[in-house]
Amino acid sequence: MCIYFIILMVVFGIKGRFPIVGTCLICLAAFAFSVYLTYKDSNKLALMVYSVVTIIWMMRFVIQWGWECSVQHFIFVLLILAFIGNYAPQIVKLWLSAGVLLVRVVLYFWHVTHEPLEEISYATSLMFQAINILVIFISMVVMLSIFTGDKMETEAKLSRYNTKLKVLSEHDPLTKLPNRRSVISSTIANIMSGAYVNGVCVAIGDIDFFKKVNDTYGHDAGDEVLKQLASVCGDYMKDHGIAARWGGEEFMFVFNNENLDEAGVSANELLSKIREMTVNYNGTEIKITMTIGVTDVNTFLSKGVTEGDIDDRINEAVYAADKKLYMGKANGRNTVVV
Ligand code: GH3
Ligand code: MG
Ligand code: MG
Repeated sequence: MCIYFIILMVVFGIKGRFPIVGTCLICLAAFAFSVYLTYKDSNKLALMVYSVVTIIWMMRFVIQWGWECSVQHFIFVLLILAFIGNYAPQIVKLWLSAGVLLVRVVLYFWHVTHEPLEEISYATSLMFQAINILVIFISMVVMLSIFTGDKMETEAKLSRYNTKLKVLSEHDPLTKLPNRRSVISSTIANIMSGAYVNGVCVAIGDIDFFKKVNDTYGHDAGDEVLKQLASVCGDYMKDHGIAARWGGEEFMFVFNNENLDEAGVSANELLSKIREMTVNYNGTEIKITMTIGVTDVNTFLSKGVTEGDIDDRINEAVYAADKKLYMGKANGRNTVVV
């Protein structure tokens, strides 16, 4: 708009129409002030100044030259601004657009009931129309491109944040393994899909004498053990199902499409890998073992189990695995109980 009024000032200045040059100068100052307000983060005030100034000069020009100068089309720029230029509730925007319509009706009413103060030639009218259409078009394109650009950027940001939040809410921050909630919902999905004809087994594994690791080498060393153990379990379980952190120094393993015997063999293979693992922490080598209890989820699923109670059945299976785990602890640890 500032450029628009500079152009008008030059055109009217050449023609020697100095009062109009003065009007244009006032509008230029007002629009420049509106731009300044946006830098001061007073966007609402900037929008108000912009709208009021636009309405005043539109009226002034229509009174001076009538409908032929075509400044009344700037009303559409105001309409777009009312909707995309502020974060007001929808009802406020509707009221603003009703106000814009009212201005347009008043302008038209003035035009049909009053002769313009000055007749303009056909050539001047053409010049006015050319400049106005160009400026209106550019204003709309600039506003819409800024708005749609902002919107797309916001949507992309939101989608990135959602993905991050989902990963955070489903994984344990220390070991990066799925957490309890996530492994249960994956197990429910696995079972409900019916894809695993051989069934699904669950196991709970608890590190043996882990408190001693913490007490001997420190809590940070314990954390390092948990991380490396998670990596070993995650790698092994990739071909079998899921490894998750159940809580503390307990892990849950889901063996997809394996019956109890097969899951028992897999759990023993996993335990061998854990026994082979050596954690090097600040020059100290730490070895650990684990006790694992395994159960077949199928045993807990009666016919026609619904999504509503499958959750309870899986918890029952986990509870049973936990009981086997404690049997293993009582019988000397470092073992798999099937
Ligand atoms: P058991 O063989 O009977 O399982 O003996 P345990 O020492 O492993 O069992 P206990 O329940 O007495 O100790 C578990 C320890 O695990 C205690 C707790 O401080 C530790 N622990 C739990 N979560 C974490 C963790 O995130 N980091 C570290 N470093 N230690 C943890
Ligand atoms: Mg424990
Ligand atoms: Mg333990």
